[in-house]
Amino acid sequence: MLKKEPTRGGLIAAVHRPQDLPERLRPAVAFVGRSNVGKSSLLNRLLGTRAARSSKTPGKTRGIYFYETNEGHQFADLPGTGFARASREERGGWAELGQRFFCDGGAVLAVHLIDPRVPDSPIDLETRDGLSDLGVPRLVVATKWDRLSAAQRAVARRQLAAIHGEIISAKTGEGIETLRREIRRRLI
Ligand code: GDP
Repeated sequence: MLKKEPTRGGLIAAVHRPQDLPERLRPAVAFVGRSNVGKSSLLNRLLGTRAARSSKTPGKTRGIYFYETNEGHQFADLPGTGFARASREERGGWAELGQRFFCDGGAVLAVHLIDPRVPDSPIDLETRDGLSDLGVPRLVVATKWDRLSAAQRAVARRQLAAIHGEIISAKTGEGIETLRREIRRRLI
């Protein structure tokens, strides 16, 4: 486990094994979603740094990364779900780490990133149900909005409205401030 003195807007800890999770977790906003959905890019936008490792290689995030925001909140970047190329053993390890984190009350809110073109992928439905079972409130965020056509946006807007989902583009910055406000509102 890597541990550093908290620096605002930066990485404070990286945990790779369930037994390395702190005994008393400070409740965080957890970021979950399929590999490559744009989680690192969004975190970098929200944190105002390039602390989260953004990469074109799916599955690069293999632990839970804890960040401190400028406002003093804790964000936790969870392993990308559904990375098919990881071995079964590795996937099991990540699942165990995530499970332990949530069961120990690590998250006050889960920001669930989805691809608005595939809103009901089996993995995302699994994530939705898992969070619901654990009683963790979920905020859905549709990513890479800049990539959608007008027709795709119209469909996605309707689906997102039904679940009070947010829309963002880490590339253009669209929706980032609104999301930041919504996260803040949910933490009060
Ligand atoms: P992660 O695996 O979920 O952390 O995803 P990344 O943040 O590493 O993003 C995966 C790929 O999508 C990278 O090539 C990013 O540059 C790209 N990407 C992320 N967010 C956006 C976005 O809002 N718009 C566009 N066009 N590309 C994005």
